[in-house]
Amino acid sequence: DPRIARISSAIRVIPDFPKPGIMFQDITTMLLDTKAFKDTIDLFVERYRDKNISVVAGVEARGFIFGPPIALAIGAKFVPMRKPNKLPGEVISEEYSLEYGTDKIEMHVGAVEAGERALVIDDLIATGGTLCAAVKLLERVGVNVVECACVIELLGLKGRERLGDRPLFVLVNAT
Ligand code: IMP
Repeated sequence: DPRIARISSAIRVIPDFPKPGIMFQDITTMLLDTKAFKDTIDLFVERYRDKNISVVAGVEARGFIFGPPIALAIGAKFVPMRKPNKLPGEVISEEYSLEYGTDKIEMHVGAVEAGERALVIDDLIATGGTLCAAVKLLERVGVNVVECACVIELLGLKGRERLGDRPLFVLVNAT
């Protein structure tokens, strides 16, 4: 798809952020390119519009940028998957391991119902820990995760393997 090259080149890479040795994929420059941003949303909408998806679950923080326009366009609700202690109501949470220590992701109880069909979206998959925790949270309450989607996949960290059999769709590969 010719739209991918424009999206890819609108993403900026910042070396040594947030720590020395990390090449940070910065999607904020892509949001400034109105065509690249629209193409990004359009590509996801084209893929998911006829898949009977009732929930788009976006992972904090950049899943909150891409999830809502997709949800509106396909007629699904949007559910934020948040960092710990941000959601005001009753939550269920899922812990996942990081390189050093653990982190948690939370979702409001009652936001989704068993049997719903969900798309889980974030800007980027690295080790897959974050996306996998979001998927597990939804599956625990009986939601069928149809697919995970990211703008960028960092190859080499085997994030895709961590997701097991669950399909992952990405627009751009990076190393
Ligand atoms: P993972 O859990 O190791 O797959 O890391 C993915 C999470 O970290 C996502 O929520 C990303 O937004 C964030 N992340 C990791 N590396 C980058 C990066 O280079 N750019 C933007 N976000 C990143």
